[in-house]
Amino acid sequence: MKRLEREPMDDVEITLVSPSKYQYYPELFSGYIEDRYTKEEIRVDLERAAKEAGVIWKKGAILSIDPVQKLALTAGGEILDFDLLSIDIGSMTSGTDKTPLTEDIYTIKPNYQFTASIDAIRLADNLVITGANRAAVEIGSSLQSWRMQNGLHNSLTLISPNKLLSDKMTPNASAKIVQLLTEKGIELHLGSEIQAIRENKILLPQQEIHFDKMLWAQDPKAPDLFKLSKLPVDHNGFLLIENTLQVKKYPFIFGTGECAVMEGMRPYSHSFYTSIKQGNVLYTNIKGFLGTGEGELYTGHIPKLSPLELGRYHGLAVFNNRTFHGKIPWLLRQLENKRLLKN
Ligand SMILES: Cc1cc2nc3c(=O)[nH]c(=O)nc-3n(C[C@H](O)[C@H](O)[C@H](O)COP(=O)(O)OP(=O)(O)OC[C@H]3O[C@@H](n4cnc5c(N)ncnc54)[C@H](O)[C@@H]3O)c2cc1C
Repeated sequence: MKRLEREPMDDVEITLVSPSKYQYYPELFSGYIEDRYTKEEIRVDLERAAKEAGVIWKKGAILSIDPVQKLALTAGGEILDFDLLSIDIGSMTSGTDKTPLTEDIYTIKPNYQFTASIDAIRLADNLVITGANRAAVEIGSSLQSWRMQNGLHNSLTLISPNKLLSDKMTPNASAKIVQLLTEKGIELHLGSEIQAIRENKILLPQQEIHFDKMLWAQDPKAPDLFKLSKLPVDHNGFLLIENTLQVKKYPFIFGTGECAVMEGMRPYSHSFYTSIKQGNVLYTNIKGFLGTGEGELYTGHIPKLSPLELGRYHGLAVFNNRTFHGKIPWLLRQLENKRLLKN
């Protein structure tokens, strides 16, 4: 939309459909938890951004797509017809289909739920987070810092069947995170598969853990939309795209962000850097498809892990398999965050 604001596409009516008026920056979630950013500072007002870009904004979630008739159905029952469709709907959270999502269990995806979920759980006596990914580590660590600073010394427990960030980091770096979280007073149950959840109890193989509130922050999973719409997907159910960001079978459908993968691309390696790169390729290729015939190839990227934000001005960065912990990695991360806000 920023690109459209600078270079409008003449004679094209563009509609943005999104279930919330706001788009949140997950990179700033730790800052929100620690009261360094307000709710307004970590989100973009899509209605306003759309207006500035000459785009129509429509509140709604796309439920299914008919690529043959070129129709999209929203959860509110509205049918939208299109000549060209561009999809960037992020991911959902795995395991939610097997978990009874009661009023005490929260998720952060779609991520417009984030501030409401955090505000609902931050004061809980016994707080449990499940997950071993970046979101679970950063949210857990920042919440623990906030709770300690606000005199809440009750337990915060992190449970996961996997090692922390083991898909992204070396065993040394993963062990360092375990050490740092333990020093912060977080109770870790790693390698523990959740057997069942009964009322406010989590059943692990050897013990039961009581919770007042729980944040379900497991790994990303593909939205159901693609399978339901019979669009081409990879083995994890994410939309399959070519390096032009188009779906091969339906070149009038484009996909970007975490929900769309190129064959052979590492899953979940999307980041704010890829968003900027993909945004420019998407603009050129949509314009090319609609008239100019010009196009660009998206060449992917080398996944880069930004420093982790661990609360109370502490961060962790990994360079050449060595870990660096303290204020400097935290400051590096703040620089990245500032760059993100500028874009
Ligand atoms: C705590 C945390 C910290 C992170 N830190 C970093 C970091 O430091 N650096 C980094 O590079 N990455 C980081 N990431 C990852 C990065 O932010 C995500 O990969 C990125 O947000 C994905 O962008 P996206 O556009 O694919 O999806 P999203 O940002 O999730 O946007 C998807 C949009 O689609 C909307 N939507 C969903 N379903 C539908 C539907 N059916 N119809 C219409 N609209 C729909 C949603 O409401 C949302 O507005 C972090 C993630 C988390 C959770």
